[in-house]
Amino acid sequence: MSPETNETNLSPVACPRCGETMRSATVRTAIWRDESLFVVEDIPAQVCDSCMEQFYDEETSDALRRLTEEGFSSLRPKKEVLVPIFSLQGQIVRRAPSAEDGAFTERY
Ligand SMILES: [Zn+2]
Repeated sequence: MSPETNETNLSPVACPRCGETMRSATVRTAIWRDESLFVVEDIPAQVCDSCMEQFYDEETSDALRRLTEEGFSSLRPKKEVLVPIFSLQGQIVRRAPSAEDGAFTERY
């Protein structure tokens, strides 16, 4: 069994957002608490490959909420990784406004 994806044979569920059929999978999520980043793995979810949305059932949401509300203090992390943090400061190249630009260009 792959650690990334755990397919099961539950009946297919339609995506509440786009209506496509979702698949059962085991996912992970990253949660920022103040200045700390926490990653939670082994989350059973319904995943929509069409709009990339992920949905958790009530019990899963409850477990995730408990863990978050306790500041991740109730469980020992299964592992820790070093996370490189990048900045876009000084990396964004703005084009000069032109007549062909769309809604995202500021007008003066
Ligand atoms: Zn969808």
